[in-house]
Amino acid sequence: MESSKTHRPSVSGPALRLVEPLEKPPLNSPPVSRQGAAKKRLKNWVKKIPFFQEVDYLRRKVYDSSLFDFAVREQARKLEQWPPALLLDVTNRCNAKCVWCPNPDLTDLGSMKMDLYRKIIDDYSTRGGVVHFGTFGEPLMDKTLREKIEYLQKFPTIKRVEILTNAFFMNEKIIPTLLENSVAVDISLDELDRETFEDVKKMSYDVVRKNIIDLLQANDRRSHPVPVNFRIKTLKTMEETLEHEFFKIIQDHRCTIALTPLDNNIISNWAGRFDKDGFMDRYGIDSDKAVRFNHKRFNLTNTAPCTQLWKWMVVYWDGSVVVCCADMFSSTPVGNLTEDSIKDVWGGTVLTELRKKMIARQRFEIPICQNCDIHLSWHHLKNDYDSNGEPFQGKFL
Ligand code: SF4
Repeated sequence: MESSKTHRPSVSGPALRLVEPLEKPPLNSPPVSRQGAAKKRLKNWVKKIPFFQEVDYLRRKVYDSSLFDFAVREQARKLEQWPPALLLDVTNRCNAKCVWCPNPDLTDLGSMKMDLYRKIIDDYSTRGGVVHFGTFGEPLMDKTLREKIEYLQKFPTIKRVEILTNAFFMNEKIIPTLLENSVAVDISLDELDRETFEDVKKMSYDVVRKNIIDLLQANDRRSHPVPVNFRIKTLKTMEETLEHEFFKIIQDHRCTIALTPLDNNIISNWAGRFDKDGFMDRYGIDSDKAVRFNHKRFNLTNTAPCTQLWKWMVVYWDGSVVVCCADMFSSTPVGNLTEDSIKDVWGGTVLTELRKKMIARQRFEIPICQNCDIHLSWHHLKNDYDSNGEPFQGKFL
């Protein structure tokens, strides 16, 4: 997201900052490193205090009740005028076969054609916002991704560019493109040791590790490094992860890390499309049953409006717009950008009616939302956008 365009933020401080996994990592990562790890350990300890989970669960229930809707309604109204971010799933193909992801079950695979992409970007740039590549598939599998990234450079209204990748194809051919075009890189790394990594992700650990180190080293050499974040959701414990030699290597570079052991119940059920209980059983993770007051449990029952309907527009590779980033199977299309404009879809009948249902606390009347633990209350919009609906400079979406 940084470098050639001055209106985009850059990371200038050294080293890593450890962030809370459920919060969004800052793009400008200050040097926190060891303190970050200590803070994380402390927070982990606080969460184990007797009745912490219960009290936190109660806090969420009260804050997400309709009593506090007024606190976010005005901001939501502004966001309804224009999508503050475009989540472009430029391809739904993925080389990895992660054991917690239903992507391998997808059958209608493809990549976004350049003509369609240009139409979408030309339209979006009239008002602009954040462009984020990747959600259901691996964006680096899109053979035209370099061209797509470079195309964005002519639009000063594009405030930020992000990519979410598993890093397998993040090789020496694409790294310069990412760095020179100021693309913030969010890496789904997950596991740190070879055996576990290859067991759960079904791809080569050595390739990914080399690519990551190459990226971090190249980024460190730049006067305006791009933000790099790692998502680590792991079968290992927090302590094992913090002591892992690869963690220590990453930690010595400019980046942030969102670290969550899987027994914190971080895996999603993909709006009911993924057999999460089966996965938990297979891998001997029993937190879903043991932690009654876990946030994912709460998400299943929370009737607060879901942040997704205001947070971003999720665009499938074929130009169709789906309701949210849980809709991997495109079960709830809300428009199509091959024919319609972004404004028409964002303010159109389908999304407007869905938002009305959410605000009326009728989430469970929307089929895809009935069994979804990705749901987050619309109060989370405050984590990503300011009161005018502008994206915060220092955050990945
Ligand atoms: S509740 Fe789930 S399925 Fe419904 S909009 Fe939110 S994330 Fe999507």
